[in-house]
Amino acid sequence: KGPDPDLPIIKQRLEQVDRKILVLSGKGGVGKSTFSAGLSWALSADEDIQTGLMDIDICGPSIPLLMGLSNSTIHTSSSGWSPAYALDNLAVMSIGFLLPSAKDAVVWRGPKKNGLIKQFLKDVEWGQLDYMVVDTPPGTSDEHLSIVQYMKEVGIDGAVLVTTPQEVALQDVRKEIDFCRKVGIPILGLVENMSEFICPKCNTANAIFAPTTGGAAQLGRELDLELLGRIPVDPRIGSTCDKGQSFLDDYPDSPAAQSYIDIVQRI
Ligand code: ADP
Repeated sequence: KGPDPDLPIIKQRLEQVDRKILVLSGKGGVGKSTFSAGLSWALSADEDIQTGLMDIDICGPSIPLLMGLSNSTIHTSSSGWSPAYALDNLAVMSIGFLLPSAKDAVVWRGPKKNGLIKQFLKDVEWGQLDYMVVDTPPGTSDEHLSIVQYMKEVGIDGAVLVTTPQEVALQDVRKEIDFCRKVGIPILGLVENMSEFICPKCNTANAIFAPTTGGAAQLGRELDLELLGRIPVDPRIGSTCDKGQSFLDDYPDSPAAQSYIDIVQRI
């Protein structure tokens, strides 16, 4: 079998992207998509920064909703697919845009998923980007292997591993770390989501997952990984995201918004 004829085109497109970041989590429900969306909003808060958010969670694409693009469809031209825009400087591509309805579950096997991811990389006109954030499905599956296979052609800057503080979630993070090391992707660091609850009335931090709060910091020390940030539980995150709005715009002074701003500085 000769070299993949599409690789030069993929390479050409990806060479226009400065930093490519994969967002991974061992488990579902830890807030990975919420984090990918929040990180993208936070990066694009600077109008001079061009950001792309690519959702390859083929079986459960939630990015269109989180980015306020549920009703968007993708336009095709002779040179490819144009992404949807959440902001002038924030391009978004998701399988969700291609499904006839949000209720359509995608039950695809590996090769078809691989084909779609390849098409996202080959055909989407991202243009010049400073950052590409890739929201992946939980765990390590076909989608991860596909994206790594293609992106490695031009280099992946690194993976951000999202977890919650409980030991069950942390255990799965170890598997993600193992995956990154096996396929040779640098790990930018860990993000502990839902680390604690900060009461909006009195500003006191409550370790709702006690006694394991700080679990990601401990794991980071154990495995020599940076803890990029700890995002508190804030019920307003859920409600803002469900409206497809930026939490940072709506609650700029909240501790959770500050966590995102700090994380952007570190990646
Ligand atoms: P995943 O992508 O890991 O499956 P999601 O991003 O879909 O997880 O998040 C799961 C749920 O948790 C969503 O309802 C989301 O709004 C909520 N959520 C995520 N992070 C936070 C947070 N820091 N505070 C409050 N709710 C959160």
